[in-house]
Amino acid sequence: MSNQKPLNLKASRAPSDKASSRQLTPWRVLIVDDDLEVHSVTRLILAKTVFKQRKIELLSAYSAAEAKQMLQAEPDIAVILLDVVMETEDAGLLLVHTIRQDMDNQAVRIILRTGQPGQAPEEQVIIDYDINDYKAKSELTSQKLFTTVIASLRAYETIISLEKTRLGLEKIIDSSDSLFQVSSMREFASGMLTQLSSFLDCKPEGILCIEGYSNVEASPDTDHLCDGLEVVAATGRYDDCLTCLHPLDKAACQHKDMVAHVQKALRERKNQFDDNYTVLYLETGEYKAITALVHSDHFIDEHDQRLLAVFASKISIALANVIHYQKMISAEEAATTDFLTGLNNRRQLLRFGIPLLAGAHRSVTPLAVAMLDIDHFKQVNDAYGHDAGDVVLKHIGALLKERFRLSDIVARYGGEEFCIVAPQLEPEQAFELFDEFRYALAMQTIEVEGESLTITVSIGVTTVLCDSLDEMISHADDLLYRAKQAGRNCVVISS
Ligand code: GH3
Ligand code: MG
Ligand code: MG
Repeated sequence: MSNQKPLNLKASRAPSDKASSRQLTPWRVLIVDDDLEVHSVTRLILAKTVFKQRKIELLSAYSAAEAKQMLQAEPDIAVILLDVVMETEDAGLLLVHTIRQDMDNQAVRIILRTGQPGQAPEEQVIIDYDINDYKAKSELTSQKLFTTVIASLRAYETIISLEKTRLGLEKIIDSSDSLFQVSSMREFASGMLTQLSSFLDCKPEGILCIEGYSNVEASPDTDHLCDGLEVVAATGRYDDCLTCLHPLDKAACQHKDMVAHVQKALRERKNQFDDNYTVLYLETGEYKAITALVHSDHFIDEHDQRLLAVFASKISIALANVIHYQKMISAEEAATTDFLTGLNNRRQLLRFGIPLLAGAHRSVTPLAVAMLDIDHFKQVNDAYGHDAGDVVLKHIGALLKERFRLSDIVARYGGEEFCIVAPQLEPEQAFELFDEFRYALAMQTIEVEGESLTITVSIGVTTVLCDSLDEMISHADDLLYRAKQAGRNCVVISS
């Protein structure tokens, strides 16, 4: 190749193992000559040739201008048998320039065939023009023509294959690099399915499953076909797998074909390719993952299979990164969030609340701290059970989230006690806000065990800034005690 520019490649699928049963595209050879006789002789010699199970399709152009048009229309011509003297003395030589420079086609093999070697001396031509062979018509016996055409086809195939590999690797590096940037599993999965479908030139219809992703055992009462595999992303026709209660289940799953392929990949621990599916098997340390993609119209040739194996091994590493990142986030969440209500836990309340108090001191702005306790909560547990009590706790947690501002810190402080740190609230506003909350809750009914319960809370609120948040919490707790003594279902505030 004379320069580094990418070739004008039209995807021409190379032969595969399953090739014999398929109609392979023929090699295309263009005869350019103004002598009709040359065309018919060449056709006679090459017409029945088969090379690597592919026939030869002969195209004819009778002038350089016609050849140029044909080359523009048919970019996958492999070999040109080119006459020199046609519409002008050097029409053939000028066409070489057009092909290599203007059309930027470096792949096609050009065999110059001249009837007047004196007109275009071999040494000069081979140096000045980017041709691949030079023959005097007189020396081109049928055997020599056959040999030189086959040698040229072989060279063309190598060039195309190298260029496909280069383009494929470029795509893989680009796509896997972008997958290294993402940290959410959703983004990773959709990015990967998109990259893969663009590589395979098909719609992004696929699924990504990971073994033991959420540490959830496969449910024993389902007939799970791919043990432990969990669907983490699905697109196109597999959308429903994400919401399905028993994905990959023998009886329930609608996608038996896909499941069979996924199972096979998992069992054999390797990629699977057939006419309709590409299934990549990814193994990354402790995790096994499978991605399956549908493409209904073409078989993936060996060349692309090798590239996909490179892709799979590169993205396995990116996938491991995402899994570890996600696990870190979940661990962080578990350490800062109350499991039952999803509110902040006490640790997180202090982490965010202390700087808020410091800010209030600095800017001399108000800050309210409230302790909230459910009235007679023990009776709920005693009458309806602990699970019913949990429903009540969750209900109150959700109502707190709904009614307080994002800038307020709402936390489950412990048991059936909640703590709220709310900046920028004057005492009257604070009273109003908490009393409205108390009233709103008291007006609601909570459905548990077929019963409608009415739940009330008592709240103690302080707006007196102390040196530490602990002190303010302790004041709010004293005020809460007074609210309980005052008959419950009320707010007591000090300012
Ligand atoms: P008071 O109006 O004086 O606050 O009475 P109370 O019954 O609400 O207070 P008490 O402190 O006697 O009882 C609190 C109950 O809260 C006891 C405990 O079992 C229950 N509790 C604490 N944490 C949880 C929980 O996570 N889930 C459930 N269901 N109950 C809880
Ligand atoms: Mg209570
Ligand atoms: Mg209590």
